[in-house]
Parts: sequence; structure tokens; C-alpha cells
Amino acid sequence: MRRPVIAGNWKMYKKIGEAVEFIAALRPKVAEASHCEVVVAPPFTALQAVAKAAAGSNIQVAAQDVAWEKEGAFTGDVSAPMLCEAGCTHVIIGHSERRQIHGETDERVNRKLKAALEAGLTPIVCVGETLAEREANRTHEILERQFSGGFAALTASDFSRIIIAYEPVWAIGTGRTATPEIAAQSHRYLRSLIAEKIGKSVAEQIRILYGGSVKPDNIQGLMAQEEIDGALVGGASLKRDSFSAIVNYP
Ligand code: PEP
Repeated sequence: MRRPVIAGNWKMYKKIGEAVEFIAALRPKVAEASHCEVVVAPPFTALQAVAKAAAGSNIQVAAQDVAWEKEGAFTGDVSAPMLCEAGCTHVIIGHSERRQIHGETDERVNRKLKAALEAGLTPIVCVGETLAEREANRTHEILERQFSGGFAALTASDFSRIIIAYEPVWAIGTGRTATPEIAAQSHRYLRSLIAEKIGKSVAEQIRILYGGSVKPDNIQGLMAQEEIDGALVGGASLKRDSFSAIVNYP
């Protein structure tokens, strides 16, 4: 039985005060949500304050990126041990905005993933095709490439600590959600890759979230798919009412 995860990616929104206020308001709204794990991913500056505001609740904290080195001359980067110190339990890696805007490669995703695992963080690794790739019938090829590069040289025990987020780029922030069937097809393909390359039981246990314009009015249809183990939510995670409605989907 895979426990669903509902994670909110705040991107570059919310200053510290707004973030703390949001958590105070969210806490009672998701306190009864024992059917899933609840994660929020604020910007770096608010991580520590959000972790403090969420202490003792069922809300866990993720960073939106991580450096692959522990320390050093890496201006602008934040390492995995630093994220742990700030109170993070999770980290998003390889989000399409990092891939597209910051030139994140599969090789970098792989290094960051290993650094996160070494520090004891739970990585939420994003994969997904662009619209042009989908229209050219290249979805499987892209997912295969992202999987082979991004998840290279990991053991079955590493996989037991990883969460994957399938996020078709054409559905992120566009209001255009993949239908539950389209999402489930890609999830099935990812699970078949894992079964083939790592093992069947790892593939059965790994949680694969869907991301791309998830909203209170489409979460139930998505979660009705056996293949979908939760959601990575962008825009709708910024408002406590829509995020708590998504968390409380059942
Ligand atoms: C995301 O940022 O990961 C995302 C899926 O965004 P949105 O829900 O706004 O499409």
C-alpha cells in the first residue's frame, strides 16, 4: 500500500511573514489528514521559519533545489546538510523550471539526488515531457532518458527513499491538466522502467506523484487512478483553502 503524498511547490512566492501565517492557518485544516503525507516547499529564505511554524504538526517541509556538494565555493547554492539544519525533510529535484530556466541536466539531477539521499532527505524528483515532445510521440523516449540519466547508479534501497513526480511540462501552470488516463499511462511506463532496471518490488512500492495544474476540482479524478500516488501542486498550493481542499480530497 503506497501512502499518498500531497506536496505544495510555492516556487518564488511568499516572504517569511506570509509563509508563517499560511502555515498557522493551514495546520488546523489538514490536522485530520491521516490518509496522506503533507509537504510544503517554500523558498529557501522561509524554510527555517516554516519548519518552526509546522513543528509538531503533520506538515513536512521541502526545499525546491539542492547543491550536489556539501560545502565550498558554490555561490548561490545551498547544500543538503544546510537544508536538514533548516528543518527540511524533503527536497524537490529536477523541476522543469530548473531544467528549462537554469539548464539543469539529467547528470546534475543525479548528483543532487545522491547528495540529498546521503544527507537523509527524501528527494521528490521531477520528470516529464514538453508539449513538442508529446506531440512528436517522444514521451516514453524522454522519460527513459530522464530516468536513465537522473537515476543512474542508484540501489534498490535508494529507490525505497525516493518519490518521483511525473510533471508533463505542458500542464505546469497552464491550467491544462493531463487527463487522469494520460497521467496514469506515463506513471505505468515509469513503473515498468523501474521494474525492468531495478526490480519489481521496488517498482510496486515507489510513489509516483502527478503534477500539472492540479486543483480541488480535478484531484479526485486523478487520485481515483491506482497508478497516481499523490500530487505535486504549484499554483493551487499558494492558497490555504485550495491546498487544504486538495489535501482533503477523499
Ligand atoms: C509545479 O510547479 O510543480 C506545478 C505542477 O505547478 P502547477 O500546479 O501550477 O501547474
